[in-house]
Amino acid sequence: SDAIVHVPLGERAYDIRIGHGLIERAGELIGAATPGAACAIVTDENLARTHLPALERSLEAAGIRHAQVVCPPGEATKCYRWFETVCDAIIGARMERGDVVVALGGGVIGDLAGFAAAVVRRGMRFVQIPTSLLAQVDSSVGGKTGINSPHGKNLVGAFHQPSLVLADVGVLDTLPEREFRAGYAEVAKYGLIDDPAFFAWLEENHRGVFAGGPERAHAIQTSCAAKAAVVVRDETEQGDRALLNLGHTFAHAFERLTHYDGARLVHGEAVAIGLVCAFRFSAALGLCSGQDAGRVEGHLRTVGLPTRIRGIPGWDGDAAAILDAMFQDKKVKRGALTFILARGIGQSFISRGVEPSSVREFLDAEL
Ligand code: NAD
Ligand code: ZN
Repeated sequence: SDAIVHVPLGERAYDIRIGHGLIERAGELIGAATPGAACAIVTDENLARTHLPALERSLEAAGIRHAQVVCPPGEATKCYRWFETVCDAIIGARMERGDVVVALGGGVIGDLAGFAAAVVRRGMRFVQIPTSLLAQVDSSVGGKTGINSPHGKNLVGAFHQPSLVLADVGVLDTLPEREFRAGYAEVAKYGLIDDPAFFAWLEENHRGVFAGGPERAHAIQTSCAAKAAVVVRDETEQGDRALLNLGHTFAHAFERLTHYDGARLVHGEAVAIGLVCAFRFSAALGLCSGQDAGRVEGHLRTVGLPTRIRGIPGWDGDAAAILDAMFQDKKVKRGALTFILARGIGQSFISRGVEPSSVREFLDAEL
Protein backbone atom coordinates (compact mmCIF):
# COMPACT_ATOMS: atom_id res chain seq x y z
CA SER A 1 0.00 0.00 0.00
CA ASP A 2 1.20 3.51 -0.83
CA ALA A 3 1.95 6.26 1.65
CA ILE A 4 0.45 9.67 0.92
CA VAL A 5 1.75 13.02 2.06
CA HIS A 6 -0.93 15.64 1.53
CA VAL A 7 0.31 19.17 0.87
CA PRO A 8 -2.53 21.50 1.96
CA LEU A 9 -1.99 24.60 -0.16
CA GLY A 10 -5.60 25.74 -0.50
CA GLU A 11 -6.82 25.52 -4.08
CA ARG A 12 -3.43 24.17 -5.11
CA ALA A 13 -3.39 21.34 -2.58
CA TYR A 14 -1.92 18.11 -3.92
CA ASP A 15 -0.72 14.65 -2.90
CA ILE A 16 2.73 13.14 -2.87
CA ARG A 17 2.27 9.39 -3.32
CA ILE A 18 5.14 7.17 -2.21
CA GLY A 19 5.20 3.48 -3.08
CA HIS A 20 6.30 0.66 -5.35
CA GLY A 21 5.24 0.23 -8.98
CA LEU A 22 3.84 3.75 -9.32
CA ILE A 23 5.20 4.19 -12.85
CA GLU A 24 3.21 1.14 -13.94
CA ARG A 25 0.12 2.75 -12.39
CA ALA A 26 0.94 6.32 -13.52
CA GLY A 27 -1.68 6.37 -16.31
CA GLU A 28 -4.45 5.52 -13.90
CA LEU A 29 -3.20 7.91 -11.19
CA ILE A 30 -2.58 10.85 -13.54
CA GLY A 31 -5.91 10.21 -15.25
CA ALA A 32 -7.66 10.43 -11.89
CA ALA A 33 -5.85 13.64 -10.87
CA THR A 34 -6.26 15.41 -14.23
CA PRO A 35 -9.17 13.80 -16.11
CA GLY A 36 -9.08 14.09 -19.90
CA ALA A 37 -5.65 15.73 -20.04
CA ALA A 38 -2.88 14.78 -22.49
CA CYS A 39 0.71 14.40 -21.20
CA ALA A 40 3.96 15.97 -22.39
CA ILE A 41 6.72 13.90 -20.80
CA VAL A 42 10.05 15.65 -20.18
CA THR A 43 12.89 13.27 -19.35
CA ASP A 44 16.62 12.63 -19.84
CA GLU A 45 18.52 9.99 -21.78
CA ASN A 46 19.19 7.81 -18.72
CA LEU A 47 15.51 7.63 -17.84
CA ALA A 48 14.53 7.22 -21.48
CA ARG A 49 16.51 3.96 -21.42
CA THR A 50 15.29 2.69 -18.07
CA HIS A 51 11.83 3.85 -17.00
CA LEU A 52 10.25 5.80 -19.88
CA PRO A 53 8.95 2.69 -21.69
CA ALA A 54 6.95 1.60 -18.61
CA LEU A 55 5.50 5.11 -18.25
CA GLU A 56 4.45 5.20 -21.90
CA ARG A 57 2.81 1.76 -21.67
CA SER A 58 0.92 2.88 -18.60
CA LEU A 59 -0.35 6.08 -20.26
CA GLU A 60 -1.37 4.11 -23.36
CA ALA A 61 -3.27 1.58 -21.27
CA ALA A 62 -5.15 4.47 -19.66
CA GLY A 63 -5.93 5.97 -23.08
CA ILE A 64 -3.93 9.15 -22.40
CA ARG A 65 -2.41 10.92 -25.41
CA HIS A 66 1.27 11.62 -24.82
CA ALA A 67 4.42 13.02 -26.38
CA GLN A 68 7.95 13.22 -25.03
CA VAL A 69 11.07 15.32 -25.18
CA VAL A 70 14.37 13.71 -24.15
CA CYS A 71 17.20 15.95 -22.85
CA PRO A 72 20.82 15.07 -22.14
CA PRO A 73 21.46 14.20 -18.47
CA GLY A 74 23.32 16.65 -16.25
CA GLU A 75 23.14 20.10 -14.69
CA ALA A 76 24.11 21.82 -17.97
CA THR A 77 20.64 20.95 -19.31
CA LYS A 78 19.06 23.47 -16.89
CA CYS A 79 19.83 26.26 -19.37
CA TYR A 80 18.05 28.72 -21.67
CA ARG A 81 18.68 26.57 -24.74
CA TRP A 82 17.08 23.40 -23.37
CA PHE A 83 14.31 25.46 -21.80
CA GLU A 84 13.46 26.75 -25.27
CA THR A 85 13.64 23.26 -26.77
CA VAL A 86 11.36 21.84 -24.07
CA CYS A 87 8.80 24.67 -24.33
CA ASP A 88 8.64 24.35 -28.11
CA ALA A 89 8.36 20.57 -27.95
CA ILE A 90 5.37 20.90 -25.60
CA ILE A 91 3.70 23.49 -27.83
CA GLY A 92 4.57 21.50 -30.97
CA ALA A 93 2.88 18.43 -29.50
CA ARG A 94 -0.39 20.44 -29.46
CA MET A 95 -0.63 20.58 -25.68
CA GLU A 96 -3.29 22.93 -24.33
CA ARG A 97 -3.45 24.81 -21.08
CA GLY A 98 -5.33 22.04 -19.25
CA ASP A 99 -2.87 19.38 -20.37
CA VAL A 100 -0.06 18.09 -18.19
CA VAL A 101 3.70 18.41 -18.28
CA VAL A 102 5.14 15.26 -16.70
CA ALA A 103 8.70 15.42 -15.35
CA LEU A 104 10.30 11.96 -15.32
CA GLY A 105 13.77 12.34 -13.85
CA GLY A 106 15.95 13.82 -11.17
CA GLY A 107 16.02 17.40 -9.94
CA VAL A 108 17.41 18.73 -13.19
CA ILE A 109 14.44 17.49 -15.19
CA GLY A 110 11.97 18.46 -12.45
CA ASP A 111 13.25 22.05 -12.30
CA LEU A 112 13.41 22.45 -16.09
CA ALA A 113 10.07 20.80 -16.87
CA GLY A 114 8.38 22.59 -13.99
CA PHE A 115 9.56 25.96 -15.24
CA ALA A 116 8.30 25.13 -18.73
CA ALA A 117 4.94 24.10 -17.19
CA ALA A 118 4.85 27.41 -15.30
CA VAL A 119 5.14 29.55 -18.41
CA VAL A 120 3.92 27.64 -21.49
CA ARG A 121 0.39 28.92 -22.19
CA ARG A 122 0.77 30.97 -18.97
CA GLY A 123 0.76 27.85 -16.86
CA MET A 124 0.05 24.21 -17.59
CA ARG A 125 -0.63 21.48 -15.11
CA PHE A 126 2.44 19.69 -13.82
CA VAL A 127 3.06 16.17 -12.51
CA GLN A 128 6.38 15.13 -11.01
CA ILE A 129 7.72 11.58 -11.20
CA PRO A 130 11.01 12.13 -9.34
CA THR A 131 13.51 9.34 -9.97
CA SER A 132 16.54 10.30 -7.85
CA LEU A 133 16.51 10.18 -4.05
CA LEU A 134 17.28 13.91 -3.98
CA ALA A 135 14.33 14.64 -6.26
CA GLN A 136 11.98 12.42 -4.21
CA VAL A 137 12.83 14.00 -0.85
CA ASP A 138 13.70 17.55 -1.85
CA SER A 139 13.37 19.09 -5.31
CA SER A 140 9.93 17.65 -6.18
CA VAL A 141 8.43 19.14 -3.01
CA GLY A 142 7.89 22.87 -2.64
CA GLY A 143 7.06 24.22 -6.08
CA LYS A 144 10.39 25.86 -6.92
CA THR A 145 11.22 25.50 -10.60
CA GLY A 146 13.86 27.11 -12.78
CA ILE A 147 17.06 27.10 -14.77
CA ASN A 148 20.60 28.41 -14.37
CA SER A 149 21.97 31.66 -15.79
CA PRO A 150 25.61 32.16 -16.76
CA HIS A 151 25.62 34.42 -13.65
CA GLY A 152 24.68 31.62 -11.29
CA LYS A 153 22.50 28.66 -10.39
CA ASN A 154 18.70 28.80 -10.26
CA LEU A 155 18.58 32.53 -11.01
CA VAL A 156 15.67 32.29 -13.47
CA GLY A 157 12.52 30.51 -12.38
CA ALA A 158 9.04 30.51 -10.92
CA PHE A 159 7.01 28.98 -8.14
CA HIS A 160 4.70 26.41 -9.72
CA GLN A 161 3.07 23.70 -7.63
CA PRO A 162 2.46 20.26 -9.15
CA SER A 163 -0.97 18.61 -9.31
CA LEU A 164 0.53 15.31 -8.20
CA VAL A 165 3.90 13.82 -7.23
CA LEU A 166 4.56 10.10 -7.74
CA ALA A 167 7.65 8.93 -5.84
CA ASP A 168 8.20 5.36 -7.04
CA VAL A 169 10.76 3.94 -4.60
CA GLY A 170 11.56 1.02 -6.93
CA VAL A 171 13.05 3.31 -9.60
CA LEU A 172 15.85 4.14 -7.17
CA ASP A 173 17.26 0.64 -7.77
CA THR A 174 18.77 1.87 -11.05
CA LEU A 175 20.14 5.10 -9.54
CA PRO A 176 23.96 5.09 -9.29
CA GLU A 177 25.08 4.43 -5.70
CA ARG A 178 26.90 7.76 -5.47
CA GLU A 179 23.73 9.67 -6.40
CA PHE A 180 21.72 7.72 -3.83
CA ARG A 181 24.26 8.47 -1.11
CA ALA A 182 24.25 12.16 -2.04
CA GLY A 183 20.45 12.29 -1.73
CA TYR A 184 20.76 10.66 1.68
CA ALA A 185 22.54 13.77 2.99
CA GLU A 186 19.27 15.67 2.46
CA VAL A 187 17.33 12.92 4.25
CA ALA A 188 19.63 13.19 7.27
CA LYS A 189 19.23 16.98 7.08
CA TYR A 190 15.52 16.74 7.96
CA GLY A 191 16.35 14.91 11.16
CA LEU A 192 19.00 17.45 12.01
CA ILE A 193 16.67 20.42 11.41
CA ASP A 194 13.89 19.57 13.85
CA ASP A 195 13.35 15.83 14.20
CA PRO A 196 15.90 14.22 16.56
CA ALA A 197 13.86 10.99 16.72
CA PHE A 198 14.14 10.63 12.93
CA PHE A 199 17.90 11.17 13.07
CA ALA A 200 18.19 8.50 15.77
CA TRP A 201 16.02 6.22 13.61
CA LEU A 202 18.38 6.77 10.66
CA GLU A 203 21.37 5.90 12.83
CA GLU A 204 19.68 2.54 13.51
CA ASN A 205 18.07 1.89 10.12
CA HIS A 206 20.31 3.38 7.42
CA ARG A 207 21.25 -0.07 6.09
CA GLY A 208 17.64 -0.83 5.24
CA VAL A 209 17.27 2.59 3.57
CA PHE A 210 20.29 1.89 1.35
CA ALA A 211 19.36 -1.74 0.67
CA GLY A 212 15.85 -0.85 -0.50
CA GLY A 213 13.97 -2.42 2.38
CA PRO A 214 10.71 -1.04 3.79
CA GLU A 215 12.85 1.48 5.69
CA ARG A 216 13.48 3.28 2.38
CA ALA A 217 9.85 4.27 1.81
CA HIS A 218 9.57 5.32 5.45
CA ALA A 219 12.61 7.59 5.16
CA ILE A 220 11.26 9.16 1.95
CA GLN A 221 7.81 9.68 3.43
CA THR A 222 9.22 11.28 6.59
CA SER A 223 11.45 13.56 4.50
CA CYS A 224 8.64 14.64 2.14
CA ALA A 225 6.37 15.34 5.09
CA ALA A 226 9.11 17.40 6.75
CA LYS A 227 9.72 19.50 3.67
CA ALA A 228 6.01 19.85 2.91
CA ALA A 229 5.35 21.11 6.44
CA VAL A 230 7.96 23.85 6.06
CA VAL A 231 6.69 24.78 2.59
CA VAL A 232 3.12 25.07 3.79
CA ARG A 233 4.21 27.36 6.63
CA ASP A 234 6.28 29.50 4.28
CA GLU A 235 5.45 28.94 0.62
CA THR A 236 7.49 31.78 -0.86
CA GLU A 237 10.52 31.65 1.40
CA GLN A 238 10.08 34.70 3.61
CA GLY A 239 11.12 33.10 6.87
CA ASP A 240 10.99 29.55 8.19
CA ARG A 241 11.83 27.93 4.88
CA ALA A 242 15.42 29.07 5.35
CA LEU A 243 15.81 26.19 7.83
CA LEU A 244 15.96 23.90 4.79
CA ASN A 245 19.29 25.56 4.05
CA LEU A 246 20.94 23.85 7.03
CA GLY A 247 24.48 23.07 5.86
CA HIS A 248 23.90 24.84 2.56
CA THR A 249 25.72 28.14 3.14
CA PHE A 250 28.88 26.06 3.47
CA ALA A 251 27.83 23.55 0.77
CA HIS A 252 27.23 26.22 -1.88
CA ALA A 253 30.69 27.66 -1.24
CA PHE A 254 32.30 24.20 -1.69
CA GLU A 255 30.36 23.64 -4.91
CA ARG A 256 31.40 27.03 -6.23
CA LEU A 257 35.04 26.41 -5.36
CA THR A 258 34.99 23.03 -7.13
CA HIS A 259 33.38 24.73 -10.16
CA TYR A 260 30.21 22.63 -9.86
CA ASP A 261 32.26 19.72 -11.15
CA GLY A 262 30.19 16.69 -10.18
CA ALA A 263 33.18 14.44 -10.80
CA ARG A 264 34.75 16.07 -7.73
CA LEU A 265 31.78 16.91 -5.57
CA VAL A 266 28.06 16.41 -6.13
CA HIS A 267 25.56 18.60 -4.30
CA GLY A 268 24.65 16.07 -1.61
CA GLU A 269 28.31 15.45 -0.81
CA ALA A 270 28.82 19.19 -0.39
CA VAL A 271 25.74 19.19 1.87
CA ALA A 272 27.19 16.37 4.00
CA ILE A 273 30.37 18.39 4.61
CA GLY A 274 28.22 21.51 5.11
CA LEU A 275 26.06 19.79 7.75
CA VAL A 276 29.15 18.74 9.67
CA CYS A 277 30.49 22.31 9.37
CA ALA A 278 27.20 23.77 10.63
CA PHE A 279 27.34 21.56 13.73
CA ARG A 280 31.06 21.98 14.35
CA PHE A 281 30.66 25.75 13.91
CA SER A 282 27.72 25.72 16.34
CA ALA A 283 29.87 23.77 18.80
CA ALA A 284 32.76 26.22 18.34
CA LEU A 285 30.34 29.08 19.14
CA GLY A 286 29.34 27.26 22.31
CA LEU A 287 25.78 26.71 21.07
CA CYS A 288 25.78 22.94 20.78
CA SER A 289 27.73 20.08 22.36
CA GLY A 290 30.78 18.62 20.68
CA GLN A 291 29.14 15.24 21.25
CA ASP A 292 26.18 16.15 18.98
CA ALA A 293 28.57 17.47 16.31
CA GLY A 294 30.43 14.17 16.59
CA ARG A 295 27.21 12.19 16.12
CA VAL A 296 26.42 14.11 12.92
CA GLU A 297 29.86 13.47 11.50
CA GLY A 298 29.91 9.85 12.65
CA HIS A 299 26.63 9.00 10.96
CA LEU A 300 27.44 10.68 7.64
CA ARG A 301 30.85 9.01 7.59
CA THR A 302 29.25 5.63 8.36
CA VAL A 303 27.09 5.82 5.23
CA GLY A 304 30.15 6.77 3.15
CA LEU A 305 29.64 10.51 2.73
CA PRO A 306 32.56 12.96 2.93
CA THR A 307 32.53 15.04 6.11
CA ARG A 308 35.60 17.28 6.01
CA ILE A 309 36.65 20.15 3.76
CA ARG A 310 40.12 18.68 3.34
CA GLY A 311 38.49 15.52 2.00
CA ILE A 312 37.22 17.27 -1.14
CA PRO A 313 39.15 15.78 -4.09
CA GLY A 314 41.77 18.20 -5.40
CA TRP A 315 41.04 20.70 -2.62
CA ASP A 316 43.57 23.52 -2.45
CA GLY A 317 41.39 26.39 -1.20
CA ASP A 318 41.80 28.33 2.03
CA ALA A 319 39.49 30.02 4.52
CA ALA A 320 39.57 33.33 2.61
CA ALA A 321 38.43 31.61 -0.59
CA ILE A 322 35.55 29.90 1.21
CA LEU A 323 34.46 33.17 2.79
CA ASP A 324 34.59 34.93 -0.60
CA ALA A 325 32.46 32.18 -2.12
CA MET A 326 29.92 32.55 0.70
CA PHE A 327 29.60 36.27 0.06
CA GLN A 328 28.77 35.59 -3.58
CA ASP A 329 25.85 33.43 -2.53
CA LYS A 330 22.50 35.02 -3.33
CA LYS A 331 21.25 34.38 0.21
CA VAL A 332 23.81 36.73 1.70
CA LYS A 333 22.53 40.10 2.86
CA ARG A 334 24.90 43.09 3.33
CA GLY A 335 27.88 42.15 5.45
CA ALA A 336 26.37 39.75 7.95
CA LEU A 337 25.91 36.14 6.84
CA THR A 338 22.77 34.09 7.34
CA PHE A 339 23.54 30.72 8.84
CA ILE A 340 21.41 27.92 10.08
CA LEU A 341 22.97 26.99 13.39
CA ALA A 342 21.97 24.35 15.94
CA ARG A 343 21.65 24.00 19.69
CA GLY A 344 21.72 20.24 19.21
CA ILE A 345 20.49 17.49 16.91
CA GLY A 346 17.02 18.48 15.71
CA GLN A 347 17.34 21.96 17.23
CA SER A 348 18.35 24.19 14.35
CA PHE A 349 17.55 27.88 14.07
CA ILE A 350 18.11 30.80 11.68
CA SER A 351 20.87 33.20 12.65
CA ARG A 352 20.99 36.34 10.50
CA GLY A 353 23.84 38.18 12.10
CA VAL A 354 26.87 35.88 11.95
CA GLU A 355 30.07 37.91 11.88
CA PRO A 356 32.38 37.01 8.97
CA SER A 357 35.31 37.11 11.42
CA SER A 358 33.84 34.26 13.51
CA VAL A 359 33.35 32.16 10.36
CA ARG A 360 36.92 32.95 9.37
CA GLU A 361 38.22 31.80 12.72
CA PHE A 362 36.22 28.56 12.49
CA LEU A 363 37.42 27.82 8.95
CA ASP A 364 41.05 28.52 9.83
CA ALA A 365 40.77 25.97 12.63
CA GLU A 366 39.11 23.42 10.30
CA LEU A 367 41.78 23.70 7.63
P1 NAD B 1 20.02 14.93 -11.73
O1 NAD B 1 18.66 15.30 -12.11
O2 NAD B 1 21.14 15.39 -12.56
O3 NAD B 1 20.10 13.36 -11.58
C1 NAD B 1 21.33 12.76 -11.25
C2 NAD B 1 21.75 11.71 -12.27
O4 NAD B 1 21.03 10.51 -12.01
C3 NAD B 1 21.45 12.08 -13.72
O5 NAD B 1 22.48 11.61 -14.52
C4 NAD B 1 20.16 11.31 -14.01
O6 NAD B 1 20.03 10.99 -15.38
C5 NAD B 1 20.37 10.08 -13.19
N1 NAD B 1 19.16 9.42 -12.74
C6 NAD B 1 18.11 9.98 -12.09
N2 NAD B 1 17.25 9.05 -11.72
C7 NAD B 1 17.72 7.87 -12.15
C8 NAD B 1 17.28 6.53 -12.04
N3 NAD B 1 16.17 6.21 -11.36
N4 NAD B 1 18.03 5.57 -12.62
C9 NAD B 1 19.19 5.86 -13.25
N5 NAD B 1 19.68 7.10 -13.35
C10 NAD B 1 18.94 8.09 -12.81
O7 NAD B 1 20.37 15.42 -10.24
P2 NAD B 1 19.52 15.45 -8.90
O8 NAD B 1 20.50 15.27 -7.82
O9 NAD B 1 18.34 14.57 -8.96
O10 NAD B 1 18.96 16.94 -8.86
C11 NAD B 1 19.85 18.04 -8.79
C12 NAD B 1 19.12 19.28 -9.24
O11 NAD B 1 18.02 19.51 -8.37
C13 NAD B 1 19.97 20.53 -9.22
O12 NAD B 1 19.82 21.21 -10.44
C14 NAD B 1 19.37 21.36 -8.10
O13 NAD B 1 19.47 22.75 -8.32
C15 NAD B 1 17.95 20.91 -8.11
N6 NAD B 1 17.24 21.12 -6.84
C16 NAD B 1 16.05 21.76 -6.87
C17 NAD B 1 15.34 21.96 -5.71
C18 NAD B 1 14.00 22.62 -5.75
O14 NAD B 1 13.44 22.93 -4.70
N7 NAD B 1 13.43 22.83 -6.92
C19 NAD B 1 15.83 21.49 -4.49
C20 NAD B 1 17.05 20.82 -4.49
C21 NAD B 1 17.75 20.64 -5.67
ZN1 ZN C 1 20.35 20.64 -1.03
